[in-house]
Amino acid sequence: MATCLELPICVGMPILGLGSWSSLQGRARDAVKFAIDVGYHHFNCAYLYQNEREIGDTLQEKIEEGVVRRENLFIVSKLWSTFHKRSLVKEACQKTLAALQLDYLDLYLMPWPMGFKVGEQLFPLDGNGMVIPNNTDFLDTWEAMEELVKAIGVSNFNHKQIDWLLSKPDLRHKPVNNQVESHPYLPQEELIKFCQSKGISVTPYCPLGAPNWPWPKPEDISLFDDPQIKEIALKCNKTPAQVLIRLQIQRNMSVIPKSVTPHCIKENFKVFDLELSEEEMETCLTFKKWYHICALPSECKNHKDYPFQED
Ligand code: NDP
Repeated sequence: MATCLELPICVGMPILGLGSWSSLQGRARDAVKFAIDVGYHHFNCAYLYQNEREIGDTLQEKIEEGVVRRENLFIVSKLWSTFHKRSLVKEACQKTLAALQLDYLDLYLMPWPMGFKVGEQLFPLDGNGMVIPNNTDFLDTWEAMEELVKAIGVSNFNHKQIDWLLSKPDLRHKPVNNQVESHPYLPQEELIKFCQSKGISVTPYCPLGAPNWPWPKPEDISLFDDPQIKEIALKCNKTPAQVLIRLQIQRNMSVIPKSVTPHCIKENFKVFDLELSEEEMETCLTFKKWYHICALPSECKNHKDYPFQED
């Protein structure tokens, strides 16, 4: 069984982690338990996913059983957009730490540059169904995050927003990571190169094309059914999921496929005996269609900090 220490590391972070968005109550607990037994030590969590308590229970259980040590785990969590006000950032981080039952996070991200109206509603909407922003500036939110943990980062920041942040005159901590959607229909070559050139690691989310995305659209894509991906998988004697995960690892990124299904969790981990050729990499990165799965609903498109206006 591979341990965290045997896993390749991408700028301090094990190169393969388990996503936990949409891992519903009861399923997240079992998924994390099984994943730790398989060898995963990197878990991508968030306040928004509403499952940090049960993930925390499992982490504690495994630490107490002596299966894993805290220092060998890499736990990522994220501030939600309703906590962007400076005065709320610390409280939000403390809530996450309490739920995960941890003393520290290995990485804390600002998942969107957009701040939303403060309150219990995760997506506060106005009468026209548009998200209600607050007037926070993500540079101020960042300043409050700088007080918190040893490593902080961002997610869904575009090139310009990263630049603004890096140009902040009194910047104390550079973002160490930008978590962005990436898969063959959204290779994000320029953004990834830009981040990496600035010493910011990138974590691609939706690496499998989020096959069970809960808000289907007619133009949705299925990477598992794509003939080119299937052909590569067949040739390598691997599954399409393994090809898609390996693709991101070979792009020097720490990848976080999500699953609550034991055989998939195991399958997704078996990617270290696969090496895609340059030609196969190129095939996967030159798909003609440009497609955001997680563009955040149209409700956010009027927000001053909506990050995908440039696409
Ligand atoms: P993924 O591309 O990881 O796809 C997850 C889906 O694929 C699940 O429905 C899962 O099913 C299925 N699946 C997993 N492995 C296999 C397999 N081997 N064969 C067949 N089906 C499989 O999408 P996500 O959107 O979940 O992205 C990954 C993670 O990235 C999230 O969980 C979250 O942690 C993070 N994320 C971050 C965002 C951000 O804004 N920062 C936005 C979106 C995601 P099942 O679970 O039923 O096994």
